[in-house]
Amino acid sequence: MDDGLLTELKNVLKPEQIVFGAAMDKYTTFRTGGRAALILEPETSGQIKEILRLFAAAAQPYLVLGNGSNVLAADGGIERPIIRIGKRMGEIGVFENCVTAQAGAQLGAVANAAMENSLAGLEFAAGIPGTVGGGIIMNAGAYGGELKDVTEAVSFVGPDGEEYVASNEEMEFGYRRSALQDSGCIVTGVTFSLFPGKKDEIAEKIRELNRRRREKQPLEYPSAGSTFKRPAGHFAGALIEEAGLKGYSVGGAEVSEKHAGFVINRGGATSADVLAVMDHVIKTVYDRAGVVLEPEVKIWG
Ligand SMILES: Cc1cc2nc3c(=O)[nH]c(=O)nc-3n(C[C@H](O)[C@H](O)[C@H](O)COP(=O)(O)OP(=O)(O)OC[C@H]3O[C@@H](n4cnc5c(N)ncnc54)[C@H](O)[C@@H]3O)c2cc1C
Repeated sequence: MDDGLLTELKNVLKPEQIVFGAAMDKYTTFRTGGRAALILEPETSGQIKEILRLFAAAAQPYLVLGNGSNVLAADGGIERPIIRIGKRMGEIGVFENCVTAQAGAQLGAVANAAMENSLAGLEFAAGIPGTVGGGIIMNAGAYGGELKDVTEAVSFVGPDGEEYVASNEEMEFGYRRSALQDSGCIVTGVTFSLFPGKKDEIAEKIRELNRRRREKQPLEYPSAGSTFKRPAGHFAGALIEEAGLKGYSVGGAEVSEKHAGFVINRGGATSADVLAVMDHVIKTVYDRAGVVLEPEVKIWG
């Protein structure tokens, strides 16, 4: 990056909000990837606006990261600056039947805050290990619920450095997608509209769904959750299992024996190993079932 741009960024952010050369395995749940040239960790939407204005003026491309639970980072490292929306923007508030959360809040923490306030509707999200921002971008969902079902409004900063608010309809949510995906927009906060419930029942539902997760998913290994999107009319995990690919491995990456929909890092995997497993799975499933599997995980080169 241009020295002048870096100097200007240092006028916007405190030194501890600028990280040089961090290993991406610390920032992604796959625990793979090379070094990131620069990670910026804003703590206000004002700082995000200033960063994006500087980037727009310099035509500087960038990436946006939440918890890194759906990102596979290249082993060769990431040259583009990464804007990470994490715990510095993690506030959660409750107002009547609404929960408001900054984009860096963990989905689990937001679901728990709703439960503590006897608000139902976010139980499905309690076990998804992402941030509110990443969840909204992906329209994260589980056990019959999706964030689109409970999202009232989304605040974001556009690549022009201006702040906007989108309604649920304007977000154009679809299966694991939203209008803001890959747009350069940065989600800063979300208002969830929930409904009154019984605290004990909400807590029990969260416990039950988390129990089902632990039972079915290889949570003991690093991964990015479901590696592939669910193809129309099929389940990715079932197609992969039927193709005899459980346990298929390259280096430290493996198709989980416990849940074929997950590629896991059994230890020491590189992102190249993960990609090699994914390529083999896509080819084998296509040859056997004629179904094209599309990665859900975002691949950063
Ligand atoms: C064990 C495990 C289980 C999982 N289970 C589920 C599940 O049940 N359902 C499900 O849907 N997913 C699941 N996932 C995948 C993942 O947790 C979700 O996709 C989650 O919403 C990603 O959030 P994140 O903060 O980690 O985003 P990241 O992985 O950091 O980023 C994902 C995408 O969102 C963008 N992004 C992140 N934050 C912002 C922001 N503030 N503004 C703009 N763009 C942003 C990134 O650029 C990237 O394109 C699972 C993952 C793991 C590891």
